[in-house]
Amino acid sequence: MGWSNKSVNYLVRGQEVTIRILKAILKSGRIAHAYLLKGPAGSGKTALAKQFAKALLCLNEGSHEGGLGHTDDAELACNVCRSCSGVDNDSHPDLLMINRDGTSIGISASHGMLKEVLTRPFVSKRKVFIINDAETLTAEAANALLKLLEEPPAYVNFILTTSNEAAIPATVISRCQVIPVRALPAEAIAGYLQEVHNVAEDRSRDIAELSDGSVDKALWLLSQAGEGKADGEALVSQIIKSSPVELALEYSKADSQARHRILAALELQFAQNLSQAAEEYDPEQCGRPDMRRAGALKRNFRVLKAIMRARQRLNANTNSFLVFCTLFIDMQRVITEEI
Ligand SMILES: [Zn+2]
Repeated sequence: MGWSNKSVNYLVRGQEVTIRILKAILKSGRIAHAYLLKGPAGSGKTALAKQFAKALLCLNEGSHEGGLGHTDDAELACNVCRSCSGVDNDSHPDLLMINRDGTSIGISASHGMLKEVLTRPFVSKRKVFIINDAETLTAEAANALLKLLEEPPAYVNFILTTSNEAAIPATVISRCQVIPVRALPAEAIAGYLQEVHNVAEDRSRDIAELSDGSVDKALWLLSQAGEGKADGEALVSQIIKSSPVELALEYSKADSQARHRILAALELQFAQNLSQAAEEYDPEQCGRPDMRRAGALKRNFRVLKAIMRARQRLNANTNSFLVFCTLFIDMQRVITEEI
């Protein structure tokens, strides 16, 4: 995936704990030959790996302590040297990114690494290999990598990332220092959506809340919901007006992606409704409890829960007609209910 430099910063800033660990490693000066960044999918591991690699390759050592005038705590490298700009432009000859080809990283990737390991670094003192999604290494490729991890030249460092540690051979893991990465906090994802994808503040927060700390899921929601507001509103009025059974029959014929798109649009719509109701809610209205808005809060919350339940059922391969039918009946009841 092509990360712009800007997006790297946003995702990395949300990972304070990992950044602190990486700084401690850099400060100690005791750099291991191999690291494994493990954490949930979409938590910015590749961005972190790249940031770490940038620091390992930086020509101004000691930048991780915040020297050279930059004040960003998430920065590990100087960001001004020839090496740093090479990493930022994806053109550093001593940084090699290994990504899966389709569903796996095959033996040809390992052969490529073997060849690269033998040539000395060109710009920096080190040569860094980032292996993304290391759980997708084929057995053969993992075996070849193991040979490299056993006795790499002094100038070589490997940074592996994974969201599924259990699928990596124990022999590989035992040669890596494991660094945990947490799910991204919602505000980091919201900031990323605002700055990098120009999403409005309110909408970015709603999407971030639904993204479970995964930037991949946030981007998926963004793409699925399209112009979330309009889609969601149209869907809701259709649901209120139609027969739940007929509408469910129609929607259950859609392909899996379209079904999820419908739920994503609804989820976003009610998340927006909920946050608006919460903002407007004032427990006391002219000395009286604000029943109308309290009711709106409760209703939107109940619908949101019903949508989330529907998503879980769809993911568990429950019959999609039943899932939609139940959801639409629930929604009609809750939305049209008298307060
Ligand atoms: Zn630098």
